[in-house]
Amino acid sequence: MTRKIYTEDLIRKELKEKRPDLKIISVERINYINRVTVSCENNHIYTTSLHNLFNGKKCKICSGQKVEVGVSDLKTTRVDLIKFLKDKNDAYKYMENSNSKIIVVCPICNHEKEIRVQHLSKNGLGCIYCSDKISAPNKFLRGVLKQLNLDYELEKKFDDNNYRYDAFVDSKFIIEMNGIQHYKTTNYGKVEDISKNDELKREYAESIELIQIDVDCRFSDFEFIKGNFIASVGEYIDLTNIDWDLVFKSMNLNILVEICKAWNEDKSMLPGILAKEFMLDKHTIIRYLKTGNSIGLCKYDSIEEMRKSARRNWSYNKNKE
Ligand SMILES: [Zn+2]
Ligand SMILES: [Zn+2]
Repeated sequence: MTRKIYTEDLIRKELKEKRPDLKIISVERINYINRVTVSCENNHIYTTSLHNLFNGKKCKICSGQKVEVGVSDLKTTRVDLIKFLKDKNDAYKYMENSNSKIIVVCPICNHEKEIRVQHLSKNGLGCIYCSDKISAPNKFLRGVLKQLNLDYELEKKFDDNNYRYDAFVDSKFIIEMNGIQHYKTTNYGKVEDISKNDELKREYAESIELIQIDVDCRFSDFEFIKGNFIASVGEYIDLTNIDWDLVFKSMNLNILVEICKAWNEDKSMLPGILAKEFMLDKHTIIRYLKTGNSIGLCKYDSIEEMRKSARRNWSYNKNKE
């Protein structure tokens, strides 16, 4: 058997038959290997071996393996992510579904971490250092409750058990903002276990004559939650005067950052006042301020604050005497 000798003419002829999708630009022979430069249907020019071309290998840009600057790079498709990139050149190197790891920097606390580009695209930065750990649906709920003229308690627990409800409103309603874990198994646990617990919670609420309203928040998208909130809660509570722009804002606020800001503006503010303002308990406020101090968002000296608080209590008791 004689080996076929590929002259340039033969290469051009066979490629034309086997790969009519390509335009041949040049053929070179380097170290006994034929390297062919071609242009694909979308005019991407690349060089590869004759072997690859005969095997049907697609253009890397068209098949999504290679980024095309100005078309599929992060800078073009996901400008919202650029602020997180430590090396701004990464904006041109990756596509949003890339599995590659890059270094990102939290714009709030400057913490750096490694993350896969596709994870960043899908879930955002998710900084564990400055996160307020309050879910978007719960921030949404706070944004609404703040505007209603009704009494409410967040994270409500009743005396008979350990169930915790998202909100207890107007002494008659329970509102539960149900995230994805209520619909499918996640890191939070098996969906069967969570559903079972949901059922028990609902039974208890009904046993004390409360109306429980569940809001489907399986996606943390504002319009999705708003639609479901109006459809379910709106049946019982008048929502016509709600300013949804304000709710949108509160859903996107980092509460830890806001508390640090408020503290920076007025250090005489007592955690109790901040607690009221931000609908959290005092201990959570103090925890946020301590975190804020450790990541440089505010100056909070817990020992000094404890001394101040002791002095305040002392003078208060003295005045009472
Ligand atoms: Zn191409
Ligand atoms: Zn951070």
